[in-house]
Amino acid sequence: MSTTIVSQAVKTSRGVERLVVGQATSDGAGVKLTRVLTQDLQRRLDPFLMLDAFGSDKPDDYIAGFPDHPHRGFETVTYMIAGRMRHRDSAGHEGLLENGGVQWMTAGKGVIHSEIPQQEEGVMEGFQLWLNLPARDKMNTPWYRDFKNKNLPQFVTDAGVAVTVIAGTSHGVTGAVTRDATEPLYLDLHLRAGGRFAQSLAPDHNAFVYVYRGQVEIVGKVVPPQRMAILKNDPDADGVVIEAGSDAKVLLLAGKPLNEAIAQYGPFVMNTQQEIHQALNDFREGRLGEIA
Ligand code: FE
Repeated sequence: MSTTIVSQAVKTSRGVERLVVGQATSDGAGVKLTRVLTQDLQRRLDPFLMLDAFGSDKPDDYIAGFPDHPHRGFETVTYMIAGRMRHRDSAGHEGLLENGGVQWMTAGKGVIHSEIPQQEEGVMEGFQLWLNLPARDKMNTPWYRDFKNKNLPQFVTDAGVAVTVIAGTSHGVTGAVTRDATEPLYLDLHLRAGGRFAQSLAPDHNAFVYVYRGQVEIVGKVVPPQRMAILKNDPDADGVVIEAGSDAKVLLLAGKPLNEAIAQYGPFVMNTQQEIHQALNDFREGRLGEIA
């Protein structure tokens, strides 16, 4: 589990294009959250469609959860830092997501699912990412996996950075999930004060960092807590170098853009308005099934 790996060499790091403050909102049956990656950034951060951060020790902020609702045309990746949430869906999948676990659901042609907290007090903290599917895969059969924290690939670098590889490959370690079309990289990095983490990135992949504890520096630019840093697509850069002046926890995401039209209506993300109307019709007429 705690294999020590020699830090990768990155010659030229991407810089920070801009810092983004998330928008406070609520979703589901009133779960308070921060929408970090909002709809206006979908083009810029293609293939990523959304990132929500939730975290509260007040039960009223999360207790109602996300009752039955549909999705079509993309994938949802939930990373639970703390707390317990049960998932059930119309494709017959069920799972308990807790402390450090990941749930990966490919909605494909459509599911109805529910995500309900299994606790009445304490902290609930985590992230939900939406990852787009290429047009050719949007109507595929739904897919689901969940991973307990101990089953996620993890390693420590010789610079003392603890890395969890949720998706993609870092330092030769392949993550829990890989995807050919979007090549998502999803890392959770725990850096100690003075720590440094280097990750190679394909120049044409869109990439961003979200700092959820402490703060980091990227090419001299401070990324404060609860901020997303969009990384420049610099053809001369071969990766990113993240430095921590104090203890920090950071998500690093990158992916290959699909460069296809994006049509979103709430929980449906397709390529055209006509496909959105079809999704709404299929949902209203019960063709996305129901939770048994
Ligand atoms: Fe959902």
